Amino acid sequence: LAPAGAPVFAGRGLTADGVHVPLLANVGTPAEALAAAAAGAEGIGLYRTESSFLGRTLAPSVEEQVATYRAVLEAFAGRTVVVRTLDAGAQQRLPFLVDHGEDNPALGVRGLRTSAAHPDLLEDQLRAVARAADGSGADVWVMAPMVATVEESDRFVALCAAQGLTTAGVMVEVPSAALVAGPILERAAFASVGTNDLTQYTMAADRSLGTVATLHDPWQPAVLQLVALTCAAGTARGRPVGVSGEAAVDPALACVLVGLGAAHLSVRPNALGPVAAGLARATLEQCRAAAAAALAAPTAERARLAALAALPPAE
Ligand code: PEP
Ligand code: MG
Repeated sequence: LAPAGAPVFAGRGLTADGVHVPLLANVGTPAEALAAAAAGAEGIGLYRTESSFLGRTLAPSVEEQVATYRAVLEAFAGRTVVVRTLDAGAQQRLPFLVDHGEDNPALGVRGLRTSAAHPDLLEDQLRAVARAADGSGADVWVMAPMVATVEESDRFVALCAAQGLTTAGVMVEVPSAALVAGPILERAAFASVGTNDLTQYTMAADRSLGTVATLHDPWQPAVLQLVALTCAAGTARGRPVGVSGEAAVDPALACVLVGLGAAHLSVRPNALGPVAAGLARATLEQCRAAAAAALAAPTAERARLAALAALPPAE
């Protein structure tokens, strides 16, 4: 339950001057999708499908996947659901995937990379998503995690098309993907910036290590520059670029992300209210001014202070 006095999300992200910025939810299970719908999320911006694969010795069958995915999609009939294909190999090591015995799994075979040794796994998952989408009423988008190159993105888009999934995109969470977002978005229909990993890989700071937490900060101007590049590539090609990492949970940073050109934001359901309230205080122009001030700052702390100075104060 939200604490007393906490802003409640009314179901529509709007800036103070009425620009609609869809506020979507990050979920991992059908129960979380129902909770997100109850919290007023306008759609699902990141459905992490790992929970269907965890704790098993064998991969789930297509039928099992269809049942789970359909439950999530039906909770958002009439709205958009962005389904992310399996992101295993880093923290999530699964017994039915080849164990490469890596010293540094975050830089190894994770995310889309696992599909090289397991093409059937990805094909089965896409087949299951396509079947679950059929008749669910949801507008289903599919995206791949841990994409580093244009070839990987193009290959994923082609695999999706072969299953009849026409709205295929990628997560931008590796700096190289941000730098080649233009050519990626020639064929990918959209991108979603994953600021958790993008910050980890840009700053060379493990996202789960407290000792490097000051480096793992999405206010770092280097991270903001990569988000700006990705959004600009999307704007140039008319492709939506959203943000689905934890950065969007900070209301001031959410305004900065909108000012950088994010078309939608996806956050955990309990952050929808505070993010909507932060967005409602600032006009698009103020978001853009905050973004420009943050981008020009030399440090994360000064980026945050410069953005706050450009935004209306929180009550
Ligand atoms: C991210 O990396 O920012 C992201 C949204 O994906 P995950 O947290 O699942 O790695
Ligand atoms: Mg990630």
